[in-house]
Amino acid sequence: MVSGTMTIDCPQCGKKAKFVETDHEVENFGTVIITTLSCEHCSFRFSDVLSVTKGKNAKKFKAEIQKPEDLKTKIIKSSTAKIKIPELGLEVSPGPRSDGYISNIEGLLERFQQAIEIISKTDKKKATQILGQIKKARAGQKKFTVLLEDPSGNSALVGDKNFKID
Ligand SMILES: [Zn+2]
Repeated sequence: MVSGTMTIDCPQCGKKAKFVETDHEVENFGTVIITTLSCEHCSFRFSDVLSVTKGKNAKKFKAEIQKPEDLKTKIIKSSTAKIKIPELGLEVSPGPRSDGYISNIEGLLERFQQAIEIISKTDKKKATQILGQIKKARAGQKKFTVLLEDPSGNSALVGDKNFKID
C-alpha cells in the first residue's frame, strides 16, 4: 500500500484541506487509487476512486443478484458512475455529491437504506415501502439487477462471473 498526503485549497471554504491518496489491490481487477479530501475548517469531505487501467476497462456492467452469495459481488464506484437497481426503483447519478468508494452489493444496499432513512421524514409511506424491499434484498430474499455505467472507466462490478456488457 502506497500513500501520499498533500495540502490543497478546500473547494468549499478555500482554506487548507488535506488530500490523501492510497493504493489498493482489488482481486480480479487491479490497482485502484482512493483519494480523500477532507477539510477541518468547514468539514467538507469527498472521496473518489481511480483505476490505474481505466483506459482498458469496460464502461457498462450488469449483475443479476439471485442468491445470498451474489451480495458479496464487489463494486468499485467512482464519482462519475451511474448505478441503477430497477426492481427496487433505486438510482445513483454522478455529481459533486456522489462519492467514490469500494464496497460490495450488500454495502451498496446499506448506503441506499441510510439515504432513504434520512429522507423518510418527508414521504414516510413510500420510504417505508422501499425500505422493506431493501431489507428483503439484503437478506437474500429478493432477486434484483444491478446496472453500473461509468464513461470514465474507473468503475466496475467484480466477482467470479463476468459482469461486463460493454
Ligand atoms: Zn473547507
